[in-house]
Amino acid sequence: MKADPATQRRLLDLADVDTELNRVAYSRTNLPEHAEIDESETTMRAKQDAQVVAETALSDLRRELGRQEKEIDQVRARGKRDRELLDAGTVGARQVTDLQHELESLIRRQTTLEDELLEVMERTEAAEADVRFAEADLAGTREQLEQIVRRRDEALADLGTQETRHAERRAKLVEGLPADLLALYERVRAQRGNGAALLRARRCGACRLELDRVTVSKLKAADPSEVARCDECGVILVRTSESGL
Ligand SMILES: [Zn+2]
Repeated sequence: MKADPATQRRLLDLADVDTELNRVAYSRTNLPEHAEIDESETTMRAKQDAQVVAETALSDLRRELGRQEKEIDQVRARGKRDRELLDAGTVGARQVTDLQHELESLIRRQTTLEDELLEVMERTEAAEADVRFAEADLAGTREQLEQIVRRRDEALADLGTQETRHAERRAKLVEGLPADLLALYERVRAQRGNGAALLRARRCGACRLELDRVTVSKLKAADPSEVARCDECGVILVRTSESGL
């Protein structure tokens, strides 16, 4: 295949643009924010679980409080009823003794219940503080996650801009290339990841191997329009004054 040496040199610009496009594609899938988002989402789930645990503990305690208050009310009502009966003076002596015993035991019961109530109230306050902490903690993590997502979106937008710029430049470069040369470049690039490279000081710019003496003398003798390939890696070898031929 033949192509004007100046046209061949344009393949080097194309190869540079393709390297940039590859770099953009690599950066897009390897943004550190992707891993940070995964990690932050895991933390979020753990903190959501912690919040549910704290809320469940609080609602259990509130239910317990309600139950205790109801029991205290019952004890008080029973005591009131007993006192009213005693005050009315309509009951017999035997019943008076029973009622007095019952009243004493009701007062003891009430004291015990009120002590227990106080303890549960303290535990409820602590549980309320736990819930507030869990909510704030979760909100903090959510905010962090939102910040990372914003950073990721900015990075993606920036990469998108770069990609557009390189793609536009590529389209212009490709426009002026002969179809057969471009097809060869694309085929080699698809196979090797690299379409063309500069032959610099007798070394292939892609695989970095030095050409042997036979190849060097063949290239020296060849028509400059002849499209050369690297025997090692297959890329189109572009010759310039730097090639050492
Ligand atoms: Zn090579």
